[in-house]
Amino acid sequence: MMKAKVFVVGGGIAGAMTALHLQRRGAQVTLIDRWEPGHARAASSDYNRVIRAISGRDEFYTRWARESRARWLELQAETGQNLMYECGALILATQGHCDWEDATSETFDRVGVPYYRFTPDDVRARFPQFKVDEIQYALFEPEAGLLMAHRCVITTIDLFRREGGIVKRGTVTTDTSERPMLNGKHLEADVIVIATGAWMAEMFPRSIAPISAIMGINVLYTSTPDGSDQFDMENMPCWIDHGQGSFGIPSSEGSGVKAAVVIPNTPIDINNDERLIEKQSLNKTRQYILHRLPGLIGERVVDSKFNQVILTPDTHFIVDWHPQHDNVLFAGGCSGHLFKHGPVFGDFVAGVAMRDYGTADRFKIAGRRKLSPKESPSGR
Ligand SMILES: Cc1cc2nc3c(=O)[nH]c(=O)nc-3n(C[C@H](O)[C@H](O)[C@H](O)COP(=O)(O)OP(=O)(O)OC[C@H]3O[C@@H](n4cnc5c(N)ncnc54)[C@H](O)[C@@H]3O)c2cc1C
Repeated sequence: MMKAKVFVVGGGIAGAMTALHLQRRGAQVTLIDRWEPGHARAASSDYNRVIRAISGRDEFYTRWARESRARWLELQAETGQNLMYECGALILATQGHCDWEDATSETFDRVGVPYYRFTPDDVRARFPQFKVDEIQYALFEPEAGLLMAHRCVITTIDLFRREGGIVKRGTVTTDTSERPMLNGKHLEADVIVIATGAWMAEMFPRSIAPISAIMGINVLYTSTPDGSDQFDMENMPCWIDHGQGSFGIPSSEGSGVKAAVVIPNTPIDINNDERLIEKQSLNKTRQYILHRLPGLIGERVVDSKFNQVILTPDTHFIVDWHPQHDNVLFAGGCSGHLFKHGPVFGDFVAGVAMRDYGTADRFKIAGRRKLSPKESPSGR
C-alpha cells in the first residue's frame, strides 16, 4: 500500500508531536518550519511549562492532561532525557472568587485525580515560600509538575527524525483561497497539517483570524536567594494564582523562579518585535513578588521571555479541516494551555489526519462562543 504523503507545517510542540504520531501511523511525513525548531519566537520555546490536570469543571482536558502525563513519562523513559519533573502544582483560591477552584476539586473527585485541600495554615507549613493572607484555601495536585519545554520539542523532533521523518526549512504561505504554498507553488500532499501556532491567524485571514486573538506575555525569571534551595523545584511547586492573574514555576535546572503576571491584551508583533522585557511587566512582577513571595524581595531578574498565545473565544483548541480545502487540517489554537497536552494532542490530530476518526465538536471552527470564567477550562 502507498504511504500517505503528509506535510506538517510548524515545528512547535503541536507540529512536532503530530509529525511523530503521523510517522508512527505509517505516513511519509515532512515537517516544514520557517525557523529552526526550538527557536525563541515559538510559543513552545521557553525553559519550562506547567503540566497539571487542573481545568475547572472541564473533564475532557482533565483526562487529556492525566493521559499526557503518563505519555511524557513514557517518552522520558524511552529517550533518557529529563523532560518532566513532578514538583506538584498549587492553586490558590482567593476569598470570594473560588468558583474555578471549587469546580476543579469536584472534577478531580469525579475523575479520580489525587489532590489535597490545604487551609492557609497548611500552605504556610508546607510551602512557606508563599504569603497567603487573602487566600481562602489551596488545592495541591502532587502528580502535576513542569515540563522542560525546549528540551521536549527538540527531543520529539529528534525522535521524529530517527523514525524516518524529514525536517525542512521553509515559509509556507497561502493564496487568496487560503490554499498552502511553498516557494510560489501549491503544496501537493494527501494531507497538510497546519500547526503554526499564533501564525495561523495571518496565514488564514478568513478561517482562523475571526476566531482568534493574539496576546503577548512577558515571563521573568528571578534569581533564587544566594545559598538557598528553598525556591528550587525539589522544595516548591508550580502555582496558579488567578486572583492575581499570575502563575509560576520554581527554579528548574538553574532557571530561576519564573513568575508571569498576565497583562490582558498585551499587543505583540510576532514577526518583528524584539523579545525583550517590558518595563510594565517588570514592575508588575516585582509588585507580585512583594505580595506573594517575600523571600524573593530584592532578588534580581536573571532571564526573561516575551512570547505569544493565540486565544480562541472558548479557549478550546482547533482541530478541524479547512472549509474549502479538504486536505488541509488545522491543529492548534493554543489558548495558553496546549503544551502539556502535546503527546495526546499530536496522537489525536494524527488520527484525524489519517481519517481514522473525526474531530471532537469542541475543536471545530464553527460555533465558537465566549465562555464565562466559571465554564472555561482555563478559568479566564
Ligand atoms: C508565556 C506562556 C506560558 C505558557 N504556559 C503554559 C503552561 O504552563 N502549560 C501549558 O500547557 N501551556 C502553556 N502555554 C501554552 C503553550 O506554550 C502553547 O500552547 C504551545 O507551545 C503552542 O504550541 P504550537 O506548536 O501550537 O505553537 P508554536 O510553538 O508557536 O509553534 C509554531 C511553529 O510554527 C512555525 N511557523 C509559523 N508560521 C509558519 C509558516 N508560515 N511556515 C512554516 N512554519 C511556520 C513557527 O516558526 C513555530 O516554530 C504557555 C504559553 C506562553 C506564551
